[in-house]
Amino acid sequence: MNASVNFPESSLQLLTELQSSGLRLAAPDHEGLSRRGGAGPSDHKAVVIDGVTLMVPVHTHSAHQSAFVANAPDANGVSVLKRGSIPVAQIAFARQPRFYKLQTLDGVPYSHIATLHGTDVLATTVLQTCIRYESRKKACKFCAIGQSLAAGRTVAHKTPEQLAEVARAAVLLDNVKHMVLTTGTPSTPDRGAAVLCDSARAIRRAVDLPLQAQCEPPDDDAWFARMREAGIDSLGMHLEVLGEAERARIMPGKATVPVSRYMAAFEAAVEVFGRGQVSTYILAGLGDTPERVLEMAQQLLRIGVYPFVVPFVPISGTPLEDHAPPTAEFMRSILAPLGAMVREAGLRTSDIKAGCGKCGACSSLSSFEKVAA
Ligand code: SF4
Repeated sequence: MNASVNFPESSLQLLTELQSSGLRLAAPDHEGLSRRGGAGPSDHKAVVIDGVTLMVPVHTHSAHQSAFVANAPDANGVSVLKRGSIPVAQIAFARQPRFYKLQTLDGVPYSHIATLHGTDVLATTVLQTCIRYESRKKACKFCAIGQSLAAGRTVAHKTPEQLAEVARAAVLLDNVKHMVLTTGTPSTPDRGAAVLCDSARAIRRAVDLPLQAQCEPPDDDAWFARMREAGIDSLGMHLEVLGEAERARIMPGKATVPVSRYMAAFEAAVEVFGRGQVSTYILAGLGDTPERVLEMAQQLLRIGVYPFVVPFVPISGTPLEDHAPPTAEFMRSILAPLGAMVREAGLRTSDIKAGCGKCGACSSLSSFEKVAA
């Protein structure tokens, strides 16, 4: 969790620039972790800078061209971050968690079942297959859910028992504080809610770990109460892209569920999970203007939904791999006013029980929220 308060302007600038530009690694194999493939944003490495944990692109085309470079960590795990040849900060990389060394009795490495995000979040994609991904024409163009499966780095369906086993180990060995359960969308009308409920029940039986589930809006709002009863503390339903034309172009399958359905589902979910415990990912840099993002964020905040705006990161191997990431100036034009809006709405990241809004590492939004008014 990002704990610092009242960020100096120079730190905010550096965080935003680093996340937009990415980072080159002077030593090819830092001991730290990186995320490749999977659902949602990827190709990052978790970096701790000024007390803030940030996912920074390292495996993308633009990261390879970045002016930022980090040397090999010293014995304490600290690296010097340079812009060109000028040192600008000290940074640390997340270490390999201990649970990565374990495997199930039938030989599945724990790291194929769930991974560490940031420094204290366990994350898994319960179903690594997705109806949206069956045809590349309909798939979300930013998504790499099939890549890690094809590369043998994960399993297609993580069973409740596997998830419970890994969650327990990650809490005991690595002090993981909360967990994200996301899923590819199955063909069933619940959109994955049922499989998330089964997973959550098993995890909560094994260990006391706050859970966020993420899925498309299910067909029936009754699923929200079932998810809550299963032990899910917070819920993410991700708009990703807002404009009709941009949605149809970038995520043609997912765009068949209109924004109006998301808004109705948000309202129903907030009634169950509470204000601030429902969130949505919005990917900045895929065509939506800052005005459109901020206008949508205002609507979301009004109904109690946390608008987690993150810079789009072009992932290698996806149709958008050559799409330029948003500039730091573009991100700042959204995150500075959004930080103030979130603060005024009283939806603090520290009050979120689990999930991406609480972790915050994929965006510098939470740092902007802490800037003194
Ligand atoms: S914000 Fe979400 S996707 Fe990003 S590192 Fe944190 S838990 Fe993972």
